[in-house]
Amino acid sequence: MSYTVKEIFYSLQGEGFHTGRPAVFCRFAGCNLSCDFCDTDFEGTDGSDGGVYETAEHLAAKVATLWPDGAAPRVKPFVVCTGGEPLLQLDAPLLDALHDRGCLIAVETNGTIEAPPGIDWLTVSPKEDATFLQKSGDELKLLYPQRNASPQQFEDLDFQHFCLQPVDTPDLLASRKNREATVAYCLQQPLWRLSLQGHKIVGIR
Ligand code: SF4
Repeated sequence: MSYTVKEIFYSLQGEGFHTGRPAVFCRFAGCNLSCDFCDTDFEGTDGSDGGVYETAEHLAAKVATLWPDGAAPRVKPFVVCTGGEPLLQLDAPLLDALHDRGCLIAVETNGTIEAPPGIDWLTVSPKEDATFLQKSGDELKLLYPQRNASPQQFEDLDFQHFCLQPVDTPDLLASRKNREATVAYCLQQPLWRLSLQGHKIVGIR
């Protein structure tokens, strides 16, 4: 199978549990949702190293080239498969090809598709009004507030970490209110930790 990729780049993880961790990001093109608050350009293949990769081996080889040459051998290449919705394309051959290159594979999904086995770190970010199928993982990262996706409805699910992230919008006042509401919720229910979009704060991808 071929893989349609918007962009591949090396940066620091900006959100969630692994905030600050160096990673190669592989952004798959396309999504099965169209959220009002989406801040990601996932259409097409026009980003850096974007394109149609004909095989899992070709894509894994490209991803591996972006990990720095001088990295300490004990640090495995950390690869974040994101989108759009990566589980529309990510499959066992690609997981195997990345593992064959020694990668640790993280996936960021909207939870509408059940994840295949073999993912090393699974972040599920449910969206309001969308079918929610993937009810376990390493990290549940919820954008807040959402009309029909309250934190309470996820608190008993099988996740190790719960991150609450304020919805960021072009409306500065609305964004500030979202941040304040998110902080207040985390203080009230300490199951949740605050997730900020650190890449926006420091001006990186
Ligand atoms: S699921 Fe994520 S990538 Fe897809 S439209 Fe919603 S916010 Fe954007």
